[in-house]
Amino acid sequence: MKKQYILVLVFAGLLATFNACQKSAEYKALIVTGQNNHNWKASSPVLKQLLEQTGLFTAEIVKTPEKGGDMSTFNPDFSKYNVVVIDYNGESWSDKTKTAFADYVNNGGGVVVYHGANNSFPEWKEFNLMCGLGGWGNRSEKDGPYVYFKNDSMVIDTTAGRGGSHAKRHEFEVKIRNAEHPVTKGLPIHWMHGNDELYSQLRGPAKNMEILATAYADTTGGGSGRDEPMLMTISYGKGRIFHTVLGHADEGGGPAMECAGFIVTFQRGAEWAASGKVTQKIPYDFPNAAGVSIRTGFKELTLADDMAMIEKYDITKSTKYFADLQSRIRNEAKTAQDYQQFEKLMIKVLESKEATDDSKKLILGELSWMGSDLCIPAIKELAKNAGLKDAAEFALARMQPTK
Ligand code: ZN
Repeated sequence: MKKQYILVLVFAGLLATFNACQKSAEYKALIVTGQNNHNWKASSPVLKQLLEQTGLFTAEIVKTPEKGGDMSTFNPDFSKYNVVVIDYNGESWSDKTKTAFADYVNNGGGVVVYHGANNSFPEWKEFNLMCGLGGWGNRSEKDGPYVYFKNDSMVIDTTAGRGGSHAKRHEFEVKIRNAEHPVTKGLPIHWMHGNDELYSQLRGPAKNMEILATAYADTTGGGSGRDEPMLMTISYGKGRIFHTVLGHADEGGGPAMECAGFIVTFQRGAEWAASGKVTQKIPYDFPNAAGVSIRTGFKELTLADDMAMIEKYDITKSTKYFADLQSRIRNEAKTAQDYQQFEKLMIKVLESKEATDDSKKLILGELSWMGSDLCIPAIKELAKNAGLKDAAEFALARMQPTK
């Protein structure tokens, strides 16, 4: 027993060393939270997970005292980090901490302002300069103009009125306004975002600010009737700020945070804020104008996950994994060799003794348009099986006239 225990410890030690060698996170992130009218206990761990799954960040969460607590005890050393993510909307920090934060950004520190964080600190001038725009907290014309898009140009509107509103939560289309910025380069120009609050009528100093993406707040849903800023960048001193108004958190995260569009823009924005560049690839599951793309559990599905789940498919189950496979083929396969890589995996399903007949029918349908000579022997073999004969012969008939 004791010997086994020691062996386990040695193994765990080796594993830890191996992981430490494997890990080469370049940047350190600090997530500031602890008070919020939003569910920060749900959102902050998710933000940490999203940063770390890029492989670029190690992330820590620091909490302020609870409401009414002694804020003078909140003094993080911001200068140790490459990016500070603000998931906070609460009582004012101490003057010392505010100055340290402004110095950090002035000296080139990165910041991500996340969703409700732009509601915080209405009285703190430097913070509002970093956010560009904010809402609620009695913000009005005294805090700066409304900024939005109209007919493809940016409008600075000094009309008097409240700052901050949103209609009932809904899915909405995000439109990229600058496709050349490192954060947005290569993203679809239009994409659907998961059920979220569409922040509207934000106001602020809007200095040194660039709007990367907007969304139209439809009046029929009670919106402002404007193309409202969704993703922004701001420069403050030598610092870079990425501001996303997306991602209202429910218990466990919810559709606004599980949206692959939120996740990917947050991850890219954080890397840009930390370094000024973006090295992350755009994943195949980034949404487009046709519909939202939700990552259950915040995990991107791998091709191996897809293939394993497809083998278990029966007619009563969702075709989610098969749809994933199809979108990979359509997005990733460029050359005949690429198609054959997918085809080889699909042949394995056709040949598998464990794979269901329903899964084989799905695969036969897909191969009928993209299969090469490679899959013909496997399909001919299936044609001998009474339950799959029709599907196999259909696939062969579609493929062979052109082969
Ligand atoms: Zn919210």
